[in-house]
Amino acid sequence: MNAQSSHQIFWAPLAWISGAWQRGVCLEVDGAGRFTCISSGIHTAPEHATVLRGPVLPGMVNAHSHAFQRAFAGLSERRDSDADDFWSWRDHMYGVALRITPAQMRAVAAQLYVEMLQGGYTQVCEFHYLHHAQDGAQYDDPATMAWAVADGAADAGLGLTVLPVLYERAGFDKPALRDDQRRFAGTPDFVADLQRSVEHAGRALVNAGVSIHSLRAASPHSIHALMLRVETHDIPVHIHVAEQMQEVRDGLSHTGQRPIEWLCNNVAMDARWQLVHATHAEAAEIDAVGRTGAGVVICPSTEGNLGDGIADLPAWLGAGVPIAIGSDSHVCRNAMEELRWLEYGQRLKLQRRNVCASPATGQSATAARLFDAALNAGARAAGQTQWGLCRTARADMVVLDGQSPGLLGMPDTHLLDAAMFACDNSAVRDVYVGGRQVIVNGQHLQQTPIEAQFESAMQSLWQGH
Ligand SMILES: [Zn+2]
Repeated sequence: MNAQSSHQIFWAPLAWISGAWQRGVCLEVDGAGRFTCISSGIHTAPEHATVLRGPVLPGMVNAHSHAFQRAFAGLSERRDSDADDFWSWRDHMYGVALRITPAQMRAVAAQLYVEMLQGGYTQVCEFHYLHHAQDGAQYDDPATMAWAVADGAADAGLGLTVLPVLYERAGFDKPALRDDQRRFAGTPDFVADLQRSVEHAGRALVNAGVSIHSLRAASPHSIHALMLRVETHDIPVHIHVAEQMQEVRDGLSHTGQRPIEWLCNNVAMDARWQLVHATHAEAAEIDAVGRTGAGVVICPSTEGNLGDGIADLPAWLGAGVPIAIGSDSHVCRNAMEELRWLEYGQRLKLQRRNVCASPATGQSATAARLFDAALNAGARAAGQTQWGLCRTARADMVVLDGQSPGLLGMPDTHLLDAAMFACDNSAVRDVYVGGRQVIVNGQHLQQTPIEAQFESAMQSLWQGH
C-alpha cells in the first residue's frame, strides 16, 4: 500500500509523546506518510483536520516473527508421552514448514499481520528462513518466499523488516542440515544477496536486514563471512541465542563457552545486533552485551508456551540494554498482552510487584517504562532511525477506544497502565500506518477476503493431518 499522496492534518484529544500523555495534539503528515509537525495544547480540532476518536499511541514494533508459524498456533497443545519440550514442538513445526506454498504463506502472513495491527503493532521484523521450494530446490527467483511474506504485509498494510536467515547445519557437530530442514538452507552470500534484493526492490513500508539462525545452526566461519558482506551497511542483524538450556550446554561442550559469552568474545557486536530470547544469561554476559550496544528481543508468550525460561529482565534493564518484544510463534498477537506477560513473568519469578518500574529514575509507572523501552528498542531492531509520535517518523498511529471495558472512566493519568494491565481484549480502535488508515473500529478494511484466504489455506495445510 502506498502512503497518502497529499498533506493531512490529524487532531487527537490525547497522544503519547515522549513518554507522557499530551492534550489537544495536532499531527501533520506529508505526502510521503511522515510526520512534519506535532504540537500539543490545541484544544479544538483545526478546520479540515481528521479527528482521532480516542487516546493515540505510537505503533509498536513486533521485533521477532516467523509468520508461517501462525498456521500452527493452537495445534501443539497436547502431550502424548512423558516428555514434551521445545524440541518435540520443533519437530511438529517442521511439518508446516515443509508443506506451506508461497500462496499459503501470503494468506497466513496477511491474516497474522491484520491481527498484529488490531493488537497495536505497525511494524514487524520477519526472521525469515523458509527460503526454498518443498523439495529443497531454490526457486527461480530466490526471494519467492520473501515476496510472499511481503505481499501479505502489503495486503494488511503493516510495515515489514525482512531478515533473511543464515541457516546451514543441524547442530554444532552436524555440518549438514537434516532432510526436514531442506527449505531453510542458506549461505552467507545467499543471505546477503537476498537482503540486497529486498532492499533494492524499494517496496513501500519494506526494508531488510540479515539474521543468523543460532550458533548451533551456523559455523563461526560463515557468521564472519556474512558480517564481512554487510560490514558497511547500517542494517539490523538478528540472532536467536540462549533460548534453551540444551543450547547453552551444547555451546559449552563444543566451544567451551556459553552462547552469549561466545558471541561477545568472537563477534564484533554493535548496536545493529539484536539477541533474540537471551533467556539464559549470566551477570557477566549481560554486562558484556551492555558494553556492545546490542539489544535483546524477548518473546514472553512464546517463551512461556515453549517452556523456555524467564530472562533476567531487571539485570538487562539495569545494564542499559535495549529491550524489544516479539511474538515469535504467534500464540499471542497483542502488544499489550506481550508486555503484560513480560512483567508478569518477573512478578511470578521474584514474588514482587511492579518489577520493571524504576522509582529511582522517576519512572514509577511500570506500563510507561515497558512501553517506551519496547518502542525505542523495537525501532532499532527494525532499522528505523525515527519512530513514535515525533517529527520525520513514519506517521503510524494507534487510536485506543476509550469506551472499551478496561479503559472506561479511567483517569487520563492511568490510561496506559489500564491498557496494559486491565484489558482482556485489545482496546485498539483505529490504526494508521504511514498516514493511511488500515483498521477502522477494530476491523481491517480487507478483513473478510483476508480471513477467507487464511481459512482456505489452513484447510489445505491441515487436511488429513
Ligand atoms: Zn524465533
